[in-house]
Amino acid sequence: MNIIAIGAHLDDIELACGGTLAKAVKAGHQVKMVVLSESSYFSFDGKLLRTREQAYQEGLNAAKVLGVENLDVLDFKSTAIPYSGETVTALDNIFAHFKPDLILTHSPFDTHQDHNNTSKSTISAARNYNNILMYEPFPPSGRSYVAFKPQVYIDITDTIDIKINSMKEHKSQHEKYGEDWVEAIRGRARMRGFESNYKYAEVFEALRFEIKF
Ligand SMILES: [Zn+2]
Repeated sequence: MNIIAIGAHLDDIELACGGTLAKAVKAGHQVKMVVLSESSYFSFDGKLLRTREQAYQEGLNAAKVLGVENLDVLDFKSTAIPYSGETVTALDNIFAHFKPDLILTHSPFDTHQDHNNTSKSTISAARNYNNILMYEPFPPSGRSYVAFKPQVYIDITDTIDIKINSMKEHKSQHEKYGEDWVEAIRGRARMRGFESNYKYAEVFEALRFEIKF
């Protein structure tokens, strides 16, 4: 199966579905990660918190931990990813080459404007594809006015440590949020595992899902 994960920033994909992607790689599936923004990061008052080069290197290291070699980082500006013809066309081209059987992306109700526009652009570009799952938003951008509905569970018991190790490769983010960040990511996977009778799980909301017999 060809599985593609689309994220707004370097670290979003690992956080949302790193366990799933690591599991898919182990099972021999083709996995591609696409990040729409160059992922540099400033605080609201203009202080540089992560350079573009640092973001790319951290993203590359994190993908390697997951076992994903196919990573594209596009050049849209962080905080200003548009929902536009340009974004949709960029994804059209990527889909035409990779031919995904499964597309993973953000929820359109995620409150970060970049996550939101990435989701809408992916949904537009995925008009001819039948399997689209949306990530569970994570705080601070997950506190929306529309609740996330957990619908599709994936057991990540065997890959939770790989996921956590890939998150720790995002050293700038780890430094910014501290150990609480890592604990919360593991804690949520544990809670989603508990409710689905696994040790650890990741969960998605289905936009469309095809069942083949
Ligand atoms: Zn993000």
